[in-house]
Amino acid sequence: MRLIRASMAFLCICLLTAFGCGGSNAGATTPTFDGARAMADLRTQCDFGPRAPGTAERNACLTWIKTTLTGLAAQVEDQAFTMHPATGGAGIAGNNVLARFNASRQTTTGALLIGAHWDCRPKADQDGTAANQSKAVPGANDAASGVAVLIELARVFKQTPPPRPVYLACWDLEDMGQLPETQGMPYLGFCAGSRFFSQNMGNWRPAEAVNLDMIGDANLRITRESYSDYSNAALNDKIFGAARRLGYTQFVNQGGTAIIDDHKPLIDAGVPSVDLIDLDYPGPNSNHYWHTMQDTPDKCSEASLKAVGQTLCAMIYN
Ligand SMILES: [Zn+2]
Repeated sequence: MRLIRASMAFLCICLLTAFGCGGSNAGATTPTFDGARAMADLRTQCDFGPRAPGTAERNACLTWIKTTLTGLAAQVEDQAFTMHPATGGAGIAGNNVLARFNASRQTTTGALLIGAHWDCRPKADQDGTAANQSKAVPGANDAASGVAVLIELARVFKQTPPPRPVYLACWDLEDMGQLPETQGMPYLGFCAGSRFFSQNMGNWRPAEAVNLDMIGDANLRITRESYSDYSNAALNDKIFGAARRLGYTQFVNQGGTAIIDDHKPLIDAGVPSVDLIDLDYPGPNSNHYWHTMQDTPDKCSEASLKAVGQTLCAMIYN
């Protein structure tokens, strides 16, 4: 009996070690995603000013992204490209920043790519004040929020290497769609950076991908984007399942609308991909903050960034 009792005690200790205690469903091996640090990274990007193409603010932020990732990843690459405007004139410089974790340059089988755009829309064309419509958006939710989650994930991956190869991708020139400069271009002129990448993947071709966009909204509500479910419902299932187990009600496991975003060029290039996005960014009086000068950090929350980041950790490490 004593021996059995001792064995049972040992078994209990093993189980506690394996699954943790305190009711967490994430498992003892899932690292903690620091939402406060991600929120600080969101503010840091906004403090540069709008990261609109061709600006000094954009150049400063690009340097910050590259420097920060270089200290964390096994390899960082600046994938420079040029977008030729439909209106003619000089090309618009774009830079996708790619970072590799737990993978050599040669062994990339099974890699997961997590992306988010880092550029700001150069025109706040949804703003209710006409004088604001020619200004670049501050871009707190669209899109500093996604990059903030990527940067904090990079710290997690440095501390606790992920069990599979993971690439992070900060896309440039996502938000030039439906402007004179991009008339007639694929994807309504949106997604120039991820489109360039999808045609020039080289040894960065992932097995599957998750894209993040507008996930910092304090009233976050992410549903299942339609292209995502056509392309990679299994990955969407894993993400929404992890969120449910963690109790994150910001994820609503029901069908949403189809949205052209940086996952679409990847899907069209044969990479099964999903998009996590909450396009509904409501302001007061039936107004909204999307593509307006009101897209500022006070409309975003640490809790939203935490929900997305911790859910992705649970998906990756379990
Ligand atoms: Zn946008």
